[in-house]
Amino acid sequence: MDQDEITKLFNAFQASRAHYLQRQQRKKAVCGAKTRKGTECKVKPLQDHSRCRMHGGKSTGPKTQTGRSRIAEAQRKRWEKWRQERSEKASDC
Ligand SMILES: [Zn+2]
Repeated sequence: MDQDEITKLFNAFQASRAHYLQRQQRKKAVCGAKTRKGTECKVKPLQDHSRCRMHGGKSTGPKTQTGRSRIAEAQRKRWEKWRQERSEKASDC
């Protein structure tokens, strides 16, 4: 076996491995949103989205200026709450 053959074999191995990993990832992909039962949604997400069609996968996000600022405000509030919770936890220890 010469070097060329070894390289060819190795490349084939790498390609098949990459293909296998890609398939595994696709298999595992689930929406993961919290359902009314409290469990995780197991529906396959839409292509190029992380959520299924029932949990916002079709959403295009805020489009108008009002909508955008509303989302920004909600995010600010959420991060503020998170920071507060984190500082409380740190002071507990
Ligand atoms: Zn879902």
